[in-house]
Amino acid sequence: MSPVYEATTEWAQAHDAADPLGAFRSEFLIPPHEGRDGHYFCGNSLGLQPRAARAAVNAELDYWGELGVEGHFKGRLPWMDYHEFVRDHLAELVGAQPNEVVAMNTLGVNLHLMMVSFYRPTPDRHAILIEAGAFPTDRYAVESQIRYHGFSPALSLIELESDEPNGTISMGAIERVLTEHGSRIALVMLPGVQYRSGQAFDLQAITELAHKQGCTVGFDLAHAVGNVPLQLHDSGADFAIWCSYKYLNGGPGAVGGAFVHDRHARATLPRFAGWWGHDKSTRFQMGPEFVPTPGADGWQLSNPPILSLAPLQVSLEIFHRAGMQRLREKSLKLTGYLEWLVQSQLPDALEIVTPRETERRGAQLSIRVLGGRSRGRELFEYLINRGIIGDWREPDVIRISPVPLYNQFADCLAFASAVRDWQM
Ligand SMILES: *Cc1c(COP(=O)(O)O)cnc(C)c1O
Repeated sequence: MSPVYEATTEWAQAHDAADPLGAFRSEFLIPPHEGRDGHYFCGNSLGLQPRAARAAVNAELDYWGELGVEGHFKGRLPWMDYHEFVRDHLAELVGAQPNEVVAMNTLGVNLHLMMVSFYRPTPDRHAILIEAGAFPTDRYAVESQIRYHGFSPALSLIELESDEPNGTISMGAIERVLTEHGSRIALVMLPGVQYRSGQAFDLQAITELAHKQGCTVGFDLAHAVGNVPLQLHDSGADFAIWCSYKYLNGGPGAVGGAFVHDRHARATLPRFAGWWGHDKSTRFQMGPEFVPTPGADGWQLSNPPILSLAPLQVSLEIFHRAGMQRLREKSLKLTGYLEWLVQSQLPDALEIVTPRETERRGAQLSIRVLGGRSRGRELFEYLINRGIIGDWREPDVIRISPVPLYNQFADCLAFASAVRDWQM
């Protein structure tokens, strides 16, 4: 059932023209190169700007100018409840109940706030499991939490080593580490999609294995949200966190998100509290006693930054219209085309690091440049000069992410043509 691909402009253009989601591209600003649309493959790092984002931000600036403090209660989307206007679409996107998600803070902050509640080490059970080579923030955050509780990373940080070629991790390896060390692991903290390898993980299977060992489970969905379909509620995970400037196109430094499973909605977990997490019905009585709002909202600290929520609201509305399932269907074809081009046209220049199985990856392919670092850097610079924007990961990997909302088959072909020209 794999589609029949061809490395021709005609094939790429015909499939772009027939793409049922093709019109969404025009809702985004595509960074130009020499007067034409560039080939942007960096949605895994910073998603492109929805055209409607500017008007949404300007509208809030206008309300501020016209209404002052009354903007909390008036305007199209009153600021008082602003984070609630993104909630339903966010819940839909990550497969959660609306009370399980909240848009707040940024990823690193949310990771710490969640660990305050969900990393509760005891003398017998104090370890955190992460993957070897985790993103620096995640590693720094878990190490600092371990130290904060008086333990030492040397004893309490367990790094899951890759057991497959190219640095990916099998479910068997996850099962083995949990069987061996599960009784001393307090928290399993793994990615939805690993940022370097592009490997996607089975959140439900991991959660089941970890819960069986009595561990709490959290996921970092920085590279998964808006990229692969998620069923967070059904996964059973205790919590998850993400940022919104990658596949979610929320803009640089956009407001991140958190998921707290419904089973914890009314639990009296320890937490770092703030007035915006206080029960909404009595928040403005300004009483001394903190009564958390049930659900993920109860973890909020501050009233939200409206100017950076406005583009996220726009972006989530686009995801709602496109539908994550349809986006995934297109994503499989787009990334499949890129994979086919690399393997059939460029086998002597490039090697794909990301798993072959489609259920073990999202949009991103991590592509190793054969011949070492300097050759890799040379190709990377060459691609930039041709208007092809990926990103570089030491020592020899270029990450290329065709994003189904705005990338085309023609972009993938342009990448392959440029690599071939560079080889000659
Ligand atoms: C992008 C990313 C981050 C970034 O964290 P911020 O707090 O948003 O700066 C953290 N962890 C992972 C895995 C990421 O991919």
